[in-house]
Amino acid sequence: MTNLVTHVGSTVEEHPGETAVSFKGTDIAYRELWGQTGAFASGLADAGVEAGGRVGIYLPNLPQFVVGFHGTLRAGGVVVPMNPQYKAREIEHMLSDSGAEVVVTLPDLAGHVAEVRDETDVHTVVTVGEAVEGTVSFEEFCGAPEFDTVDRADDDIACQPYTSGTTGTPKGVLLTHDNLASNAEMSASLVPGGISTDDRQLGVLPLFHIYGMTVVMNATLFDGGAYYPLPAWDAQEAFDLIESAELTLMHGVPAMYNDVINQPDAAERDLSSLRLCGVGGSGIPVEVLRRFEELFDAKIYEGYGLTETSPVTHFNTPGERRVGSIGKTLPGVSAMVVDHDFEQVAPVDEGPVNEEDVDLDDITGEVVVSGPNVMQGYHNRPDANEEVFTEWDGKRWFHTGDIGYHDADGYFYIVDREKHMINTAGYNVYPREVEELLFEHEAVADAAVVGIPDDRRGETVKAFVVPKPGTDVTPEAIKQFCLDNLAEYKHPREVEFVEELPRTTTGKVQKFELRGE
Ligand code: AMP
Repeated sequence: MTNLVTHVGSTVEEHPGETAVSFKGTDIAYRELWGQTGAFASGLADAGVEAGGRVGIYLPNLPQFVVGFHGTLRAGGVVVPMNPQYKAREIEHMLSDSGAEVVVTLPDLAGHVAEVRDETDVHTVVTVGEAVEGTVSFEEFCGAPEFDTVDRADDDIACQPYTSGTTGTPKGVLLTHDNLASNAEMSASLVPGGISTDDRQLGVLPLFHIYGMTVVMNATLFDGGAYYPLPAWDAQEAFDLIESAELTLMHGVPAMYNDVINQPDAAERDLSSLRLCGVGGSGIPVEVLRRFEELFDAKIYEGYGLTETSPVTHFNTPGERRVGSIGKTLPGVSAMVVDHDFEQVAPVDEGPVNEEDVDLDDITGEVVVSGPNVMQGYHNRPDANEEVFTEWDGKRWFHTGDIGYHDADGYFYIVDREKHMINTAGYNVYPREVEELLFEHEAVADAAVVGIPDDRRGETVKAFVVPKPGTDVTPEAIKQFCLDNLAEYKHPREVEFVEELPRTTTGKVQKFELRGE
């Protein structure tokens, strides 16, 4: 078992003078970061936060997020990260469900906390920057930098993120110190030679989301790398930062890579300092990966995971990559593909299969996983816990809700989320397959496919397409392109052109919105 706080503490001792965080030209060395987390932890202790106390961090990617996160852990607290795009209604549930006592936020967001404060246990609101009515400034809140880290067991809860909640009420995911630390360590070890003090990592994936928190921030800090936060996604800013700071590592969601390749100046940009580009959060269309690699001297490695698994369960390691696959399981993680009776579905000989030649229903099932990174459970949700865990063969298996298959060499392929599957006149259509094809069309900049109600077929396939600027393609032409390349029942009977797709901050298309729900 590993403990994140202890480990980062030893990194501080080993590399006190190396840069831990770099933001807008200001570097924070490991020694300073440790002092700042101690000061924040002192503030929490003075505010009465005890071991297990919840601290909401409601901030974009800023150095204070890093300080608040590690300071909370040193104080023995539990971090409740919240998306800074959320409004009062959305944070109220997270704050009251978690019982958060302190919230760290920006002056501009403090109003949302004030609106719901009476419905929650929040007694202290800390603002990064100026104090506003009812808040204390971050600087004033912080106490003495010397702080004796509160001991926590490896299986104590360290973080309680809320799942994307694209449907239903978001659930609090209980992640232990060991969950977070083992996954950060594993993520760092997937980088060839590990992450070292020579590494500089782009920090654009949001820190409130587990991917940015574990794979980007904590994996970087685990062994002495430098973390470069960027508060919001902007392809030009990302290009500038990668070029000027000669960043060596980046992780992004597919929508970011797609944005990058569609920048007018992409061909003039130099990303050659990057030694690893990771992707996850949703499947990257093969065409987007191919075009990125054609433009830049860099390779994209796809991984897979969920908030509930801290997050990474699968990754394509350099040298062993299979494009289109999410890779193999991380060491210590087990995964299976099972049917509704929890019977294992046999692997195919080799993947990716040509989806024209097989009936996906014959080779696919739900991906279930087990390992040290799997959450303890959902906070106060015995009903949901009952649904997502199955005890089998001495292990506790977590149901991912994703449909996939694996090949005989242990590479896994995600076909789609179970709930996105479209049933049209008795045929199953996985939107991902149609989306992959749409990305191959030269006039398509972005695309998403959903099922919409249909009197005759129950459901029918509809595509939302963002055409590339300056093209004169028509919805009819897109429909014909699909008909020429897919079985007739899979082609979108409706194609609608839109300016952009509704996405979450972590790049997932909000399909419920496209379905008009
Ligand atoms: P989250 O809890 O927000 O991290 O979302 C987890 C979900 O993201 C998974 O259940 C998958 O549906 C999706 N996901 C993550 N990585 C991938 C990937 N490489 N390919 C396909 N889907 C992915």
